[in-house]
Amino acid sequence: MNENTSSKWLKSVNQQKVLRLIYAEGPISRVKLAEKTGLTAQTITNIVNRLLGEEILHENVPLENGVGRKPVPLVVKSEELYALGIEVAVKYVRGTLVDFRNVPISEVTETMSSDTNEDHDENKVECIVKVIDQLLKRVPKMNQLKGIGCSIQGLVDSTDGVVLLSSGLHWRNFPLRERLEQHYNLPVYLENDANLLALVENLNGSLAASNHNVTVKLDYGIGGAHVMNKQLNSGAGHVAGELGHCKTFFGIEAMPCHCGAKGCLTTLVSGSGMKRNLGFTLEEFGHRIREGDPVAREWLAKMAEAVSSALSNLITFLNPDHVLFTGKVLDHTGNYLMDPLRMRILENIPESCRKVRLLRLEQTPDDSVLAAGLVMNRFFDVPTIHLSVI
Ligand SMILES: [Zn+2]
Repeated sequence: MNENTSSKWLKSVNQQKVLRLIYAEGPISRVKLAEKTGLTAQTITNIVNRLLGEEILHENVPLENGVGRKPVPLVVKSEELYALGIEVAVKYVRGTLVDFRNVPISEVTETMSSDTNEDHDENKVECIVKVIDQLLKRVPKMNQLKGIGCSIQGLVDSTDGVVLLSSGLHWRNFPLRERLEQHYNLPVYLENDANLLALVENLNGSLAASNHNVTVKLDYGIGGAHVMNKQLNSGAGHVAGELGHCKTFFGIEAMPCHCGAKGCLTTLVSGSGMKRNLGFTLEEFGHRIREGDPVAREWLAKMAEAVSSALSNLITFLNPDHVLFTGKVLDHTGNYLMDPLRMRILENIPESCRKVRLLRLEQTPDDSVLAAGLVMNRFFDVPTIHLSVI
């Protein structure tokens, strides 16, 4: 880092420290900010003036403290700052505009055209742009919108903003962030849907008290995320968590998978695999299960066996304290799948691992709202030095 870069970096670290503190602990005075950060009163004044100028902060009514100058409490203008979240699914694009209190302001869904011609990429980008354009009309002032977050079902390089591989979307090394930044003068963030869910649940959701955990999303596709010491493990090439390609079906049940292998978990457990290989949509499957259809119930037992086998191996190997299950497959099958899954996993794993808590989110969270949360997360993020091994 040269001197100029390092001074800019320090300035941005200090500003982010102050901003995060006001967000987390506000209303808070300038004096308290100086005490808590160890920065000089002048530095705090400069930073606060800059943030007031950018309309990010608000000064509350000064507090009465009897003597001298009254401290002015500062708060983040959460009700006047906005984030836009986009869920890029295989068949649709859904967007939600939320304010920084996480209150949804407006929602838009557009169906994605399913043609696979060479303009396919353009159609998808156009569909995303259409959703964003409609939501932008609901933002009172453009400088209040702090970014666009995207949730993607597939492998994502969130640092470079590239979709590495999404079989459903037919994207390979697609520079989505760059494409969207050509349209909008706003920061764009991408994250894999299961990683995004794990990040949000670890921050302030059902995994807040957990340090080591696995998130499993059984949905139209299958995704997973591994968190160790509260840090997301993306692996060496952003592939960690690709649970859908664990080998769980053998013999005549080993169907070919789009990854080139056979017998992957996704071929008979995900919504798309179920449709392709069993001929059921998720809705039909859920309905048949509730009606007691013997064919569907037989498949359900095989699915429970397959998922529990993959998860039992993972739990034995990684020793997480929690495993969180979610996704539309569970929304449609409920306890018919979750109960045998829990039972089989606890039977399979060694006694030493049985303290693991197996949780299920009752309803799969809205990916577009989670993606908006990614914008807030980054807005208040304090940069750290990344050390790399040469
Ligand atoms: Zn596969």
